[in-house]
Amino acid sequence: MSDKYAMTIDGAAVRAPDTFGVVDPATGEVAERAPEASRAQLDAAMAAGQAAYPAWRSDEAARRKALLAAADVMFARAEEIGHIITLEQGKPLSDATMEVVGAGVWLKYYAELEVPVEVIQDDDSARVEIVRRPMGVVAAITPWNYPLLLGVWKLAPALLAGNTMVLKPSPFTPLSSLKLGEVLRDVLPPGVLNVVSGGDRLGAWMTAHEVPRKISFTGSVATGKRVAAAAADDLKRVTLELGGNDPAILLDDVDPEAVAARVFGGAFQNNGQVCSAIKRVYVPAALYGDVVDALAEQALAARVGNGRDEGVQYGPVNNRPQYERVGELVADALAGGARAAAGGAPIRGPGYFFEPTIIADVADGARIVDEEQFGPALPVIKYTDLDEAIDRANGTHFGLSGSVWGTDADRAADVAARLECGTAWVNTHLALGPNQPFGGFKWSGVGVENGPWGLYGFTEMQVVHRSKQ
Ligand code: NAD
Repeated sequence: MSDKYAMTIDGAAVRAPDTFGVVDPATGEVAERAPEASRAQLDAAMAAGQAAYPAWRSDEAARRKALLAAADVMFARAEEIGHIITLEQGKPLSDATMEVVGAGVWLKYYAELEVPVEVIQDDDSARVEIVRRPMGVVAAITPWNYPLLLGVWKLAPALLAGNTMVLKPSPFTPLSSLKLGEVLRDVLPPGVLNVVSGGDRLGAWMTAHEVPRKISFTGSVATGKRVAAAAADDLKRVTLELGGNDPAILLDDVDPEAVAARVFGGAFQNNGQVCSAIKRVYVPAALYGDVVDALAEQALAARVGNGRDEGVQYGPVNNRPQYERVGELVADALAGGARAAAGGAPIRGPGYFFEPTIIADVADGARIVDEEQFGPALPVIKYTDLDEAIDRANGTHFGLSGSVWGTDADRAADVAARLECGTAWVNTHLALGPNQPFGGFKWSGVGVENGPWGLYGFTEMQVVHRSKQ
């Protein structure tokens, strides 16, 4: 344990009078400590962002160069930062390293993204252009499942657009973001990226702070609503990337074995801790037994363990409250008459390990179907009527993404078009990229990230109308 993790404020390493413990979820023990930012330190970070803004917004070439250099830092230090992600988040080192590489891919994408001025009129009377202007200081708040990548999803477009940023990671996983601030101190001018750490209180201070014009938030629906309410008073702009309860609908022409392997991958990536992971599967009655068996086979074969160990595919659940919640939802389903076709219980020993779990003979109305479990437990629901299955898939407050699986891909695409969600996948799930807008319908979010649309979320639209008369 050490005080090697410092915040980054105005380009300098800043420690705090207080610190808080960061638990390694593979052991359940505090492994490191992170600074607990004071109110004055948050004010200093906001002031640094404000001071850096005029020069940063005025030099696009410098911004592109800096983002490319930041991408190179991610590629060069992927494994080193990957170790930090595994320590605080729990995911296997190979996945953690890929998360850092992904951060590099996003930074490079935005460094090279051209955002053309749109000319909507150019005639004898006037030339009218639509131009995207930066907003100022962005307050960015992130969750614990992809602690580094989700921060970079905000940082890359926000900075390219000419904004500066104060970033606050989840208190469960602050270390990789603190490291990000550190490794970019030589790459970005002081004040352009400030990283502060602390508990939920710090997030609330940020959303109520007078400096930021924009809040970019990724996290749960409940907190997202609080963020929106806090932003309303000052009419701060918000992007909210919130929870999901993604359905996968299997059609009656799928091959159960083949589809089960891919659906399992879409459900259990990052141990089910993905906002847009498959969280419920709808299966035609005629195929139900075969699909449940094939999913159970996948679950039983999965290698769960400490993310540092070779060959481990799935680590622990990230934190104790989430671990207890997954256990509670599984126990509730089993008490209600559902069957664990695989798993169904925590794994004995230290750390927050849970058996990869397939819940069969369960229906809408059970908490594990209706709520977001965000962990390694997947309910499989039988249907006899496709229209009814689509209605059930849509019948929630969530609307992040969903997928439809069928050998006849056109038919599957027709069904996918009826899903009420931000991304409708056909014969795949979790296929994300920096060029595709990602966001949710209904309670799953407001606005999108990624692609030019994600960048527009960090800008105000300005009309430049030049009269020619
Ligand atoms: P959370 O809402 O508990 O916390 C997210 C962040 O908000 C943390 O940094 C936390 O400290 C901060 N926070 C807490 N209270 C706050 C307040 N009042 N004001 C401002 N900030 C506050 O979420 P979590 O448990 O860390 O993350 C899991 C959730 O995130 C899941 O619901 C998941 O689906 C969602 N998620 C969504 C996306 C997406 O892109 N849609 C991506 C990843 C995760």
